[in-house]
Amino acid sequence: MSRTYETLRIAVDMDEVLTDTLGKQLRLYNQRYGTSASHSDLYGNNLVDIAPEPHKEWLRSMLHDPGFFADLEPLPGALEGMERLCAQHDVFIASAATQFPNSFNEKIAWLKLYLPQIPLNRIIFCGDKSILNVDYLIDDSAYHFEGLRGVGLLFDAPHNQHQRDYFRVHGWPEVEAAIALHEARKNGVDYTAPEEIYEPEDLLKLNFK
Ligand SMILES: [Mg+2]
Repeated sequence: MSRTYETLRIAVDMDEVLTDTLGKQLRLYNQRYGTSASHSDLYGNNLVDIAPEPHKEWLRSMLHDPGFFADLEPLPGALEGMERLCAQHDVFIASAATQFPNSFNEKIAWLKLYLPQIPLNRIIFCGDKSILNVDYLIDDSAYHFEGLRGVGLLFDAPHNQHQRDYFRVHGWPEVEAAIALHEARKNGVDYTAPEEIYEPEDLLKLNFK
């Protein structure tokens, strides 16, 4: 079947887009050190950036521990949003899991459990996502948008709060609205985005190729 305007190719990141990876990091960190670090402490930073020097090595090693990626909670609305996206579009998972080779099996098992509609041949583990040929990439790490052929939608996360170069989506309901808005603008169709969910500077940065 040939692709139409309505059927888009969309790549979706896993950590901090589908899974609450930070939530688990915070929980384990606070348990270990008796701290109370929270999302609000992390504006523009990763947890490892604000942790005291003696804690950093343990924080970095946590992501290499067997089982770390196996039992992550889905982020609110992620499964429902993916259900709707998959029903209409060609959806791929694109995870830079190559940084954590032990995570491969755990990530595939997670996807089979929570998103069984994603076939194995649409799961891509790649360190450099600019190689993807997609209409949209939904990711919390802006560096993956550099050199990308499609449009990057920056999924809001504490660590990316200073990033202003890409269109930001605050959670899953906005993903679908942002894609609808971009497609409408690209095709010269009127579309009124829900005003309250878009930052004005983001609207100026729409990138229609
Ligand atoms: Mg991520």
